[in-house]
Amino acid sequence: MAMYDNQDVARIMQLVRPNIRQLKPYSTARDEYKGSIGIFLDANENPFNNGYNRYPDPRQMELKQMVSARKGIAVENIFVGNGSDEAIDLCFRIFCVPSKNNVIAIAPSYGMYHVSADINDVEVREVQLNEDFSLPVDALLEKADDNSKLMFLCSPNNPSGNSFPKEQIVRILNEFRGMVVVDEAYIDFSDSDSLLTILLQHPNLIVLQTLSKAYGLAALRLGLAFACKEVMSIFARVKYPYNINLAGMECAKQLLQRDINTEVAAIKQERARVIAALGSIPSVKKVYPSDANFVLVRVGDAHTMYDVLIAAQVIVRDRSHIKGCEGCLRITIGTPEENDRMLEILKKYEESHLY
Ligand code: PMP
Repeated sequence: MAMYDNQDVARIMQLVRPNIRQLKPYSTARDEYKGSIGIFLDANENPFNNGYNRYPDPRQMELKQMVSARKGIAVENIFVGNGSDEAIDLCFRIFCVPSKNNVIAIAPSYGMYHVSADINDVEVREVQLNEDFSLPVDALLEKADDNSKLMFLCSPNNPSGNSFPKEQIVRILNEFRGMVVVDEAYIDFSDSDSLLTILLQHPNLIVLQTLSKAYGLAALRLGLAFACKEVMSIFARVKYPYNINLAGMECAKQLLQRDINTEVAAIKQERARVIAALGSIPSVKKVYPSDANFVLVRVGDAHTMYDVLIAAQVIVRDRSHIKGCEGCLRITIGTPEENDRMLEILKKYEESHLY
């Protein structure tokens, strides 16, 4: 049961761009008739069956029902997108009037918030995380003005790997007048609770998750957004009618039944081992704690370390040019063999360096 009233909903609807509030969405051929039909002559499809000649369900009901069962969230509170990147872009298109509204975002964080903002011609007011990557709640709230429509928080945060305390995010939800987008792409690797547990208490909360990480389905491009039903129905109206293709939905329906716990537990165990091993390499100055499937490490010379790994055909992410991440590499947790190889290269480099 939703724990907000009509007044709250009216306030949220005021945040939506006027043209979107008034939008008459495209009505697909399959939207217009709800009864049971045997002969489809309505959508200009090729009638000869090859498994993919018909348009897919624009509402993705079966897939959403599976997501609903896994996450314990009603179908009306779920959006499925072409990766969570689609949901990020929709947030801008739904709430932000180009060259007028602004968004607040933490830094360093996931790069797409900025790219989507630039594409949509929306100002980003970045607020640098504290030196230990904790959340500067007051500074975030102080950056907001009447034109601030969205605030992007990423927890666990990419690239720092840490999660933010729920109480701090709740304070922001209560005090910020716009929508708070909490990107939980890495939540399955964290011991903290997802904000989905309080979704229906906050009509200004949008939670993003993805099937690209713990669920191991990055190639299918399936991202999830969760919010109050009023916001989700706007997402449904603004998205491309057939944003998810049938092949992807069929694959996901099969693969979503898998138990991810064993793989997630293995990744978390490897994370602990990699963090310990990296910590014993002298040129690694700091290994940041991580709730995600990667670790951020500060090294003596990030460029050289990166090149050494590349020469051995191991690629990591060089984050050293990003403010707050000077000297840092972000290393994804791989299989035990892949991690061993990466550690072996770093140790060899260290030895050759010492003598
Ligand atoms: N959010 C975060 C924090 C990410 O790191 C990523 C991908 N690296 C995404 C969202 C996008 O995920 P996808 O589009 O694959 O769902």
